[in-house]
Amino acid sequence: MIRITNVKLPLDHNEAQLEEAVLSALEINQKHLIDFTVFRRGFDARSKNKITLLFTIDVNVANQEALLEKHLDNQNVRLTPDMSYKYVAQAPENLAERPVVVGFGPCGIFVGLVLAEMGYKPIILDRGKEVRERTKDTFGFWRNRTLNTESNVQFGEGGAGTFSDGKLWTQVNDKKHYGRKVLNDFVDAGAPEEILYVSKPHIGTFKLVGMVEKMRAKIIELGGEIRFNSRVDDLHIEDGQITGLTLADGQRIKSKHIALATGHSARDTFEMLYKKGVHVEAKSFSIGFRIEHNQSAIDEVLFGKNAGNPILGAADYKLVHHCKNGRSVYSFCMCPGGTVVAATSEENRVVTNGMSQYSRNERNANSAIVVGIDPSD
Ligand SMILES: Cc1cc2nc3c(=O)[nH]c(=O)nc-3n(C[C@H](O)[C@H](O)[C@H](O)COP(=O)(O)OP(=O)(O)OC[C@H]3O[C@@H](n4cnc5c(N)ncnc54)[C@H](O)[C@@H]3O)c2cc1C
Repeated sequence: MIRITNVKLPLDHNEAQLEEAVLSALEINQKHLIDFTVFRRGFDARSKNKITLLFTIDVNVANQEALLEKHLDNQNVRLTPDMSYKYVAQAPENLAERPVVVGFGPCGIFVGLVLAEMGYKPIILDRGKEVRERTKDTFGFWRNRTLNTESNVQFGEGGAGTFSDGKLWTQVNDKKHYGRKVLNDFVDAGAPEEILYVSKPHIGTFKLVGMVEKMRAKIIELGGEIRFNSRVDDLHIEDGQITGLTLADGQRIKSKHIALATGHSARDTFEMLYKKGVHVEAKSFSIGFRIEHNQSAIDEVLFGKNAGNPILGAADYKLVHHCKNGRSVYSFCMCPGGTVVAATSEENRVVTNGMSQYSRNERNANSAIVVGIDPSD
């Protein structure tokens, strides 16, 4: 397959124009074209009244080798890379000991899924409840201010990811295409297909609940096991080797392979690790607050007369200010058409975050405004 990049089309183009652009980019006629799929669709809105769509397209052609040769000097025409996920191992037939995963947030879900796909039948433990029960507790907090410290926006099936905004893009360089596996698995679990090709994929909070359930079902089908209400309170370490763990109810599980996927919020677990002599170090992070403002104002500033076009969706932004004292203040995790939510998991603390539905059609946008803090602070 051949990948062509930087294909530009107007917002109101049609299918025929897209095919025409493919033929023109490769300088071929229709008889050489087998089929094509859009790999990525973004847009250039620098000129708000003349917004251009930018496509990356994978094309099957009859004469691939010759075409690649012909376009050797053209940066926009390349062989499509192999993006398939490569498993690193396969479990032996007589698996003696099952690995344990602590935490069933996004990290634990994918550790569990990949282990299950390789045949390792993982045991996955989470301190919180399964997602439907957890949803009741989370809404209980938002509506009645009753906090359950083991079942909330952070803790329970799906971790902080379940009630997240579900923005899926990252600036991390993904040379091995791991992100592709994540997106494919999400689509298998019911995410909208468009997350595979839009430049800033987004799922929205309410779709995530059902997806998390489907991912749990897949892990179980592959021989994995997921235990809720199972908080890990102690680890067994002998001569520097992990040998097992103890749950809050006193139950002990033996395993020499334990993956900790406990997220950012489990302060009690971090303290336990520190006391056990596990190396823990302070790292830089950012702190700040959330602002809310009219989404329509953002749409108008960025998209002008094209505001409201469904291909563009609700506009987002990213702002940064470099202060004279050397610090930078920046906007982070902007949620177009979303809401600010209370997201604490501890009594007497305030944590705010932002979420939105897939449609992103709430009146307001919100954004975190944060400043970097390093260990010397
Ligand atoms: C409202 C909101 C919106 C967000 N929006 C986005 C977004 O749009 N895009 C984005 O990329 N990120 C977003 N995030 C952040 C994202 O959700 C987190 O970065 C992500 O969930 C971290 O994944 P994790 O698996 O490492 O940890 P977590 O999701 O925190 O999961 C950890 C899990 O471990 C369990 N656990 C903790 N301690 C123990 C223990 N001792 N024993 C057993 N289980 C334990 C917890 O119950 C939890 O389920 C958002 C977060 C929130 C709250």
